[in-house]
Amino acid sequence: MKVYFEPHGCSMNYGEAKIMEDIVSERHEIVNNVDDADVLVLATCIVIESTERRMINRIKEFSSTGKNLVVAGCMASAEKEKIKNIAPTAKILPPDELCKILGMIDGTKNYKTKLYPYPPKRKEKRVEAIIPISSGCLGKCSFCITKIARKNLKSYPPDSIGKCVERAVNLGYKEIRITAQDTGAYGKDIDKNLPELINNLTKISGDFKLRIGMMNPDTVLPALDELLDSYSDEKVFRFLHLPVQSGDDEILQKMGRNYRVDDFRYIVRRFRGAFNDITLSTDIIAGFPTETSQQFQKSCELIKETRPDIVNVKAFSPRPKTKAYTMKRLDSKIVKGRTKKLSKLRLEISKKNFESFVGRKEKILTAEFGKNNTVIGRTDAYRPVVIKDKIDLGRFVDVKIIDAYDTYLKGVVIQN
Ligand code: SF4
Repeated sequence: MKVYFEPHGCSMNYGEAKIMEDIVSERHEIVNNVDDADVLVLATCIVIESTERRMINRIKEFSSTGKNLVVAGCMASAEKEKIKNIAPTAKILPPDELCKILGMIDGTKNYKTKLYPYPPKRKEKRVEAIIPISSGCLGKCSFCITKIARKNLKSYPPDSIGKCVERAVNLGYKEIRITAQDTGAYGKDIDKNLPELINNLTKISGDFKLRIGMMNPDTVLPALDELLDSYSDEKVFRFLHLPVQSGDDEILQKMGRNYRVDDFRYIVRRFRGAFNDITLSTDIIAGFPTETSQQFQKSCELIKETRPDIVNVKAFSPRPKTKAYTMKRLDSKIVKGRTKKLSKLRLEISKKNFESFVGRKEKILTAEFGKNNTVIGRTDAYRPVVIKDKIDLGRFVDVKIIDAYDTYLKGVVIQN
């Protein structure tokens, strides 16, 4: 059979879609378009309302083709009923039952993988391999539907993760993204922790870089010293994705976030103290229920103070079955206005940050093809550098930074 996979949302969802593809590729052909396929697999994301609407439309489109449809991802766990109403014949595959994908496609019974996560089987054109290290989390965030979909933390055995990374490196992947809902929580249910895991993975021989996925301030704090040590290995991208969500402690409490703004400041200070060119990425929710203009201003001040390179700004989106869903919401105009203001502020800051790199020499990993025959590479701090030189992907080359924009740098190769 010919099977088409379409993932949406976070790295985790893409990583799991790849795992399903690898399992299915043992018996069936993977195709890259809907028309050629006999079976369609949609890995859904419902983190915000607008994304859910897109998923619903995609399910309707796929369902109207009359082909076998498997709906996977977070919607398959948190909103089964909705899927059944839209596409009564669709098969529903929740995230923690990925191994049943073959059964859903060809009726294979009791398919069991010996290893989970499942080592990549094939080398695809891309440079990065996405390796999930756990599913679920320890959080109780009042706005989060992912928690309802993925429930509590389930860390995967470090040996299995090690085998996956080794396999990916041997296949030729140069960027290994370890991902989770909260990588900082890794191992807390199996008496392990993230720094140990990173130290194990950086011992794997080969020419590759590790990108550590998002982590929460409350799960990072207890092992911060060890984490800083593990980040000092040159195989680790100096990239820290640390969602703060708000600059106000009262709002953090209403969000069910288990830390204070000062904890975020402290972690950022420690990382910058250890790695002065670290890339800081964070997330902010604008317009959370009851957020006053003063509380919103605190989020803006925090961004001005900590100068992140990346801020994923999200307008508050009420998600069904979450605590925040029933909280008194702000007027949508206010929410829109605050989201716009933060998005503008964050680009001003990232541009200034990037401008300080003009004239510097950097080593980059050529990672993907860009527009107009360009190549996008990543520095050791995971900053994107666009070059015009014709260079293969997956190469480490030295460049000189010649210009800076809101969200990327421009460079020329100085050594091939
Ligand atoms: S930590 Fe919070 S935001 Fe993240 S997945 Fe868990 S509940 Fe959701």
